[in-house]
Amino acid sequence: MSVWSEVRGQTIAIEQLSRAAARGRLAHGYLFVGPEGVGKRLVAQKFAQSMFCLKRAHHELDACGECGGCRPFLAGTHPDFQVVECPEGKREIPIELLVGSKENRGQEGLCHGLSIKPLAGGRKIAIIDDAHLLNDAGANAILKTLEEPPDRAILILVAATLETVLPTIRSRCHLVRFQPLGSTDLITLLSADGSVDEAAAREVSLLCDGSLALARQLLDPVLWELRRELQSTLRERRFQGHTLAKAVMSKVEGIAAETSGQREILQHVFKFIVDYLRQVIGGLCHTGRETGSKELQANPDVAAFVRMLGANAETLEGLAVMVDRVIEAGMHVHQNANLSLCLEACFDDLSRKRAELI
Ligand SMILES: [Zn+2]
Repeated sequence: MSVWSEVRGQTIAIEQLSRAAARGRLAHGYLFVGPEGVGKRLVAQKFAQSMFCLKRAHHELDACGECGGCRPFLAGTHPDFQVVECPEGKREIPIELLVGSKENRGQEGLCHGLSIKPLAGGRKIAIIDDAHLLNDAGANAILKTLEEPPDRAILILVAATLETVLPTIRSRCHLVRFQPLGSTDLITLLSADGSVDEAAAREVSLLCDGSLALARQLLDPVLWELRRELQSTLRERRFQGHTLAKAVMSKVEGIAAETSGQREILQHVFKFIVDYLRQVIGGLCHTGRETGSKELQANPDVAAFVRMLGANAETLEGLAVMVDRVIEAGMHVHQNANLSLCLEACFDDLSRKRAELI
């Protein structure tokens, strides 16, 4: 079985690397760019394993999974492989991880590791995840390595967007672009271990912008249940905005203890509401049409709301105002507003607008 069979939705990126390997023209520096949670790090690891596999030739870009190169790699003990990422709680990659501590500057760290002779694999390979979190000193160290790449060394930088990587670094790396995952791939990946049922996988695949990581976050049981509760509350003509805000905030605090985490969870909550209201607007616009009725059958919660509301200009306008209000609240939360106050104000406005609908 190919080492690539576990990777889904990134055929173009894999082909680009395979072609380079087949021609014997692998670069010293690669920049993997694409949305979070689509498989960049996984591809980087499979690529490295393929380079270390002792049974498969390098030009095949594949690995057996069993040899004296693959086994230590899979166990995380391969002496010629390093990964650096931003430690949890830090905002940038510490320079020590790249060039060593003050006492041992230049004698340890990723750059030193790449510069020494391979011990077992014939190559030295390093991955820098979160490459957009390199500070100036880190970027300079990496730039030096890329400008004078050690023989047989390959450095793979992984970042979410191209713009966040310094142009000087970008220009010295071969760019490999990664795409958002399609619904089919997401559903397969999410349902693979049986922990997510297919209906939930299908629903979340429409919400997660093609990111497996985001899909998994959204499927947090408390958050996913909160989504259902919000949909059901929004169908009620009268609900208390501040009571709902308190209930939501308490669940958000239960999921994430830190304010930064709560901010992120609240964005998911807003995303749920916006998505739901947009589906309802879509449903109302299609009421009576063949295509619309099929979509509505697929989502009974939306269909129930659509049946309740009449498709008239005021209702559509009112729903659009609600969507705008939630998007506005999302921006406030993003800009460091007080989370509870922001949520209360938003839900109070939604409650008033909802009462006007029908
Ligand atoms: Zn192998």
